[in-house]
Amino acid sequence: MDVVDPVKYDHTIEELREREYPMLQGTTYLDHAGTTLYAKSTIERFSADMVSNLYGNPHSASTPSQLTARRVEDVRLRLLRLFNADPGKFDMVFVANATAGIKLVMDAFRDQEEGFWYGYHRDSHTSLIGVRESAKQHRCFTSDIEVEQWMNESGSQTPLPSLFAYPAQSNMNGRRLPLDWPRRIRLTKESAVYTLLDAAALVSTSPLNLGDPEFAPDFTVLSLYKVFGFPDLGALIIRKDSSCLFDKRRYFGGGTVEMVVCLKEQWHAKKTDTLHECLEDGTLPIHSIMALDTAMSVHRDLFGSLGRISKHTAFLAADLYKSLSSLQHGNGVGVCHIYKDPTSFYGDSRTQGPIIAFNIRNHLGGWVSNAEVEKLAAVKNFQLRTGGLCNPGGVAYSLGLAPWEMRENFSAGQRCGNDNDIIRSKPTGMIRVSLGPMSTLKDVSSFVEFVREFFVQNPPLMDVPPVPPPHAEPPTLSHLHVESLSIYPIKSCAAWSVPPGKAWEVRREGLAWDREWCLVHQGTGAALSQKRYPKMALIQPSIDLDEGLLRIRLTGSLQRGIQIHEIAVPLSADPRMFSEKAMYKDLTAKVCGDSIHAKTYGSSEISTFFTQALGVACHLARFPAVGNGTSSTTSSRRFKGYLQKFQKAGGMRIPGAFPDTRTLALTNWVSKPILLSNESPILTISRSSLNRLNELIKIEGGKAAQAEVFRANIVIAENLDCPPGAERPYAEDDWRYIQIGQQFFEMLGPCRRCQMVCVDQHTAERDQEPFVTLSKTRRFDGRVYFGEHTCHLPMDEASSPFAQNPTISVGDPVRPFRDDEAEEDLCLQSLVS
Ligand SMILES: *Cc1c(COP(=O)(O)O)cnc(C)c1O
Repeated sequence: MDVVDPVKYDHTIEELREREYPMLQGTTYLDHAGTTLYAKSTIERFSADMVSNLYGNPHSASTPSQLTARRVEDVRLRLLRLFNADPGKFDMVFVANATAGIKLVMDAFRDQEEGFWYGYHRDSHTSLIGVRESAKQHRCFTSDIEVEQWMNESGSQTPLPSLFAYPAQSNMNGRRLPLDWPRRIRLTKESAVYTLLDAAALVSTSPLNLGDPEFAPDFTVLSLYKVFGFPDLGALIIRKDSSCLFDKRRYFGGGTVEMVVCLKEQWHAKKTDTLHECLEDGTLPIHSIMALDTAMSVHRDLFGSLGRISKHTAFLAADLYKSLSSLQHGNGVGVCHIYKDPTSFYGDSRTQGPIIAFNIRNHLGGWVSNAEVEKLAAVKNFQLRTGGLCNPGGVAYSLGLAPWEMRENFSAGQRCGNDNDIIRSKPTGMIRVSLGPMSTLKDVSSFVEFVREFFVQNPPLMDVPPVPPPHAEPPTLSHLHVESLSIYPIKSCAAWSVPPGKAWEVRREGLAWDREWCLVHQGTGAALSQKRYPKMALIQPSIDLDEGLLRIRLTGSLQRGIQIHEIAVPLSADPRMFSEKAMYKDLTAKVCGDSIHAKTYGSSEISTFFTQALGVACHLARFPAVGNGTSSTTSSRRFKGYLQKFQKAGGMRIPGAFPDTRTLALTNWVSKPILLSNESPILTISRSSLNRLNELIKIEGGKAAQAEVFRANIVIAENLDCPPGAERPYAEDDWRYIQIGQQFFEMLGPCRRCQMVCVDQHTAERDQEPFVTLSKTRRFDGRVYFGEHTCHLPMDEASSPFAQNPTISVGDPVRPFRDDEAEEDLCLQSLVS
């Protein structure tokens, strides 16, 4: 019976599906890892059973109660037999679901006086990971190799009672983990470490053999609805040799005690007959247990054995894997990026279950949003799962997300199941398709067709205008380049230079991590600035992406009389860091007259550090992410008041300030506005202009200005091979756009200056220059200007990696476009539209 032609067997399932799974008509169900489906016969037979028999509560003594009790024990035995578990060696406890089984084991460990050690594998389901919160010590094993190494060390490394847990199959990508670990752990650790096998995903499409108690895990949990589709029930199988662990269980409930005294004295006598009697608190889900009996019969009648289901689904999964992995765009770029473990193979049911986790790439290699895939799938009636898949370790590992990135994504509003699922050009979740007993080759081919129809670009779409070129060539004939990139992580504090060669992310709201933090006055809640507190220039922040930290160091005179010179805070906006105190909660920090909500850090060490450094009572605060889980997009993740101001400022010109030649030729663009604020996403200055300014200052015997005083983010300089005298100071006054490397920027207008430019950024001392000379040479209508407000022009969002992860670097060539040139440039015209 087991040797059947897989294609013939598929036909059999196809026929059976007509009869038994009417709910599958017109839909392609690919979420068996969520739950498989129940057969029509199960429901019919179950309801016939219910209406023809009288079942009582098994805790009563009546005949109907005895009927119930008897049937429950029969089903218990039957289920044990399904896994070849000898009832003399194993007991089974009915629970609500696999998670409840895990918690029952966790409770027993928590009730050990000395606490417990907990180890778990990276591929664990969320429900296994949560156990760590009750453990005194815990360890996440990030690979099989780590588990192997640990298993090879003899004895337990801790005197605490210990539990090691892992999934028999990853619910993320279906990888099947070795089943011999419990035996090996028992041997090398001399029974000092208990094992918990999460078989919830495995047994839905595979047999599990507990025939040898020496091999078996101490505890095995399963979700029965994942095997049979119905009823909603779970089971915990316990090796009787390990049952002493439950002796210290403190809780009792109805059903698990013989006698309870609770008035004058307080004692109780627990049931001791069988383990399941001691653990099944309250009334059992008796009707579900009886439905299970029916479901098992129907399942056997329809599919024979779990072994057959395993063969069938392995056959389908191999086909699906082969088809999805061979899909290509017209230009040869692969469509599906599949998260398969190198040690597992589709078609080999020992190492791989019938689940495929993947993401889709467009023809440029950029990621397609899973929200988009999910929406199309819903429209076309494909049932699948996207997102974090309840497997945080496996997903983070496969997607290469560092913990701080996950926290940062979380703070940026990313949640399980919402739309902004590509952050920093990485997907934050996956698509999962999973097969079950009643899946067929037709399901597989329909899904492959669906992906082909909607996501394969063949040939690459030509109705998308070829410009802006997704792979915009960096300008070649340019005589300009990026001399330096600076960011100011804490507003008004020192600059941090982006290391040469490091590709730095640009966002609509500025360079990544620029002015993400600020210091706010403890009394007024206003943001501090160098104008009033020049010493802020000596607070030196730096960004450590490897460690996920913002480091803050005190320099120069600030170090005097202070013991701690450096602190660090996580780059991620970990909500626990922020003050809950009503006084500062959602406090409105005034930044340049605008109300911006900043969240203050709750730690008194952090506040003390800055307060002592500056001599003014202040807190560190952070600009929060917008959206909080709603539909915030990558490009406008953060609220910074100036974004709004730009819109308002459009077309705001100061008459006569600059020669107005450009409006003549331009009808389709707003004229270059002059911003009245001193905040913008990016500030660009020119080295030649600065040189010119400093020459003039020196002629008057003044002190030359450093580039940092202008708080520039981008310093653009003429190339070194530029002939002497060919420098063009203030050429930027006429620039409308610039291209830096592969990215385009719009010049928003000149930056108005105040006396803040006079604070020496190395000593925090005030001078009169460069403001005096600027006032003499760069004043228009009573206002003084230096540098250009700039903002990034995002390309078509979901196209190429350049668009999804726009970056620029020190040394990048720069090509300016003046208004008259820009107009002719097709490329830019489509950018602005
Ligand atoms: C589904 C699943 C769980 C959780 O099962 P519940 O029945 O929801 O408690 C745990 N682990 C794995 C591997 C699963 O697939």
